[in-house]
Amino acid sequence: MAQQTIDVGKLRHPVERWLFGVCVVVSVVLFVGILLLAFARDEVIAVYAGDALATYRQANPEAANLSDEEVMELLPAEERETIALLEEYLSPVTILLVPVGIVLLVVWSFGREYGKLRANAVRITARQFPEVHAMWAELTRAVGIKEVPHLYTINGNGDLNAFAACVPWHRNFSAIYSDLLETCLRNEDWDSLKFILGHEAGHIRLGHVAWWYILLTFIYQLAFPINYLIGLPLGRAKEYSCDKVGHAMAQDRDCKGLLMLTAGKHLYHAMDVPEHIEESVDQGGLWLTIVNFMSTHPVLAWRINAIRKGHNGGVIFRRA
Ligand SMILES: [Zn+2]
Repeated sequence: MAQQTIDVGKLRHPVERWLFGVCVVVSVVLFVGILLLAFARDEVIAVYAGDALATYRQANPEAANLSDEEVMELLPAEERETIALLEEYLSPVTILLVPVGIVLLVVWSFGREYGKLRANAVRITARQFPEVHAMWAELTRAVGIKEVPHLYTINGNGDLNAFAACVPWHRNFSAIYSDLLETCLRNEDWDSLKFILGHEAGHIRLGHVAWWYILLTFIYQLAFPINYLIGLPLGRAKEYSCDKVGHAMAQDRDCKGLLMLTAGKHLYHAMDVPEHIEESVDQGGLWLTIVNFMSTHPVLAWRINAIRKGHNGGVIFRRA
């Protein structure tokens, strides 16, 4: 039966919507602010240097009769370095080149990922694992992706993982690690495969791999401590969003796709699921919360809990 079309936008985690909005507003304000400062470069440097000179003269009365150039030589090293940095980098051209540089970095890193798949992976097509290709085509169409992204399987050397990415202005693509695919095919576990592929299709459809999304959230992923306040929580919200897309496709309340990541490719089929739910998924705790707080993905127990309870999942604290 053909997969029903779903409105993916409605599955976006509310925290993702909110944090992304913060990223957009703060980024634009920050960028425009720095650009305006760059246009007033000479005045900015004069004001900063003037303040530094006045502060030095106030703290060292013996420097009162020295010239500005002589006092400049006596300023603490970090003050002189800041003035040198402003002189070197505070120009409109440099500031305008920063977002261009970030986009080029995205093209470079995703282009390399795509190249690695072209070089070392197997592309799944209508003739290569046709049932997987048909499922992927149906899922991507159901979430509203017009052109079916390339899908690959690559040797993960035992790791169970999948990812999606996009070479800007070229193509979206996704890869599923071979052990993950092999396990789904061997066990005829179509639910898990639909969940995993649906999750990756969600990343593409919700724009998570698009250059503009990465550009607008770039600094929040890297800079400490805003990575803990914005970047990592946004990352976890994105994962919850895509889990909802995967679940909308698979409708598997047992969450076998996530249990496979929890217990490994053999034991997930043999484990006592209700016992695991009671002992882990339904439990909270301080250390669990700390691990979650420091992770790019929500902890697996919380992801399973969110799907089973049909809620949005806690980004910082566990939702019961
Ligand atoms: Zn994901």
